[in-house]
Amino acid sequence: MTMRTALSKTVMYGMIGHCGWGFTAQMRRRVRKLFRDQWRPIEQVRATQLEQLNILLEHCVKHVPYYRQLHARGLLSDHVDCLEDLSTAPTLTKQMLVEEPQAFLADNMPPNYLLQRRSGGSTGNPLTFYITPEAAGWCAAGEIYANMLAGYRWGDPVASLWGSRFDSPPPPTLRQRTASYLSNRIQCTVDRVDDESCGRFVSQLSQMRPTVLVGYTSSLMEMCHYLEQNRITPNFPRRSLVSTAEPLTPSQRQTMERVFGRPVFNRYGSREGGLIAAECDFHQGLHLHCQGLYVEMSRCDGEDGARRLIITKLGEMGMPFIRYELGDYVLGEIGTCACGRGSPTIQAVRGRTVSNLRLPNGAFIAAEAFIVLLDRQAVREYRVVQAADYSVVVELVPKGDWDELSQHRVIDTLTGITQGRVPLRIELRQWIPRTESGKLLPVVSHVPSTIDTAPLARAAIQAA
Ligand SMILES: [Zn+2]
Repeated sequence: MTMRTALSKTVMYGMIGHCGWGFTAQMRRRVRKLFRDQWRPIEQVRATQLEQLNILLEHCVKHVPYYRQLHARGLLSDHVDCLEDLSTAPTLTKQMLVEEPQAFLADNMPPNYLLQRRSGGSTGNPLTFYITPEAAGWCAAGEIYANMLAGYRWGDPVASLWGSRFDSPPPPTLRQRTASYLSNRIQCTVDRVDDESCGRFVSQLSQMRPTVLVGYTSSLMEMCHYLEQNRITPNFPRRSLVSTAEPLTPSQRQTMERVFGRPVFNRYGSREGGLIAAECDFHQGLHLHCQGLYVEMSRCDGEDGARRLIITKLGEMGMPFIRYELGDYVLGEIGTCACGRGSPTIQAVRGRTVSNLRLPNGAFIAAEAFIVLLDRQAVREYRVVQAADYSVVVELVPKGDWDELSQHRVIDTLTGITQGRVPLRIELRQWIPRTESGKLLPVVSHVPSTIDTAPLARAAIQAA
């Protein structure tokens, strides 16, 4: 055990954690509650959610201009008898929050009480939003809880391959720097991952030997490629990998498990909603994070049964999100897991709304069709970009055995998938650019999406 881990376990999570005061002790209490509540039967989980939802609705109708307007127009009730009754309220989009943030702020919050957060621009403009310190604490507890599902224990070293430019700069005060050191976490910034940066990360991580390695799917894959190419058998992570922020395909999971020799836990979260769903060690789907969130799925939107994810943040009173469209899709039905945890499970979460290719006749082609095909090719990474005029460019970073035949095979299959209705070409690249938050989006379409702000909701914003 390194000195840092020893200090983290004894001082940060031992002495401070057990003496019943301070941030760490509060965090331990929150995580303990999440662990206790995970075994409650679904009926009890839903009853608590309903109670929290009614407190939230009453607060919103009284204190938040936008929801007050919706209530005045008969579009939002201040009380529901069951969770499903919420589905008649209009959904909220990122664009609405970007356009009129003031309309969503509660008027009873003390000045400077709320914490500012930003979310990335993968689905358009970056969003600035606010959360209460209480909700921020629960968000952090949710992340620790999900790490624990993947094998983390208090004080263990955790590393992340993360690349957001929105993440806070190094803490300025000595106290904050000490707390950051004792938290025993390091972040490898993956704005751009190449052989040089991979080499640096590998030497850092070999020394630290994190228990859990959390990363964007593309960053973990890049690391796999580097390790295989250089015939390195990594001595990290000690327990597991957590793949998050981007869709994870079965072949990517297989590659990671082969290269690292550790199980992969899929996780789904967003900056706006925090932890949304996470796999347990049964790996039978992602358990929805029902404590503090109510997650709905729209009726099937696509021919493949994809449904939009909609969240309500039950514990957020500063800038409440009621029926917020995350812009992501989920495939398959809601299920249960044999582990016995009460929260339901969802299957694969698929990229963003813009990640479906559109055909001129209005039909769309699921991102999966491209991901499954390109995953099997001799390519290191790829991105399918559709311009507003429907034309498609497939950007590829080829591996050694890529040849002309591979190129023809990809073009032929893609032409088949798109039924020859859109012009297609392949461009070979050295590097695929990431979004502002460091993500690699496998399929991006600039053809306008059909999901738009409901006209009634737009009128309510203007009136608020
Ligand atoms: Zn489970």
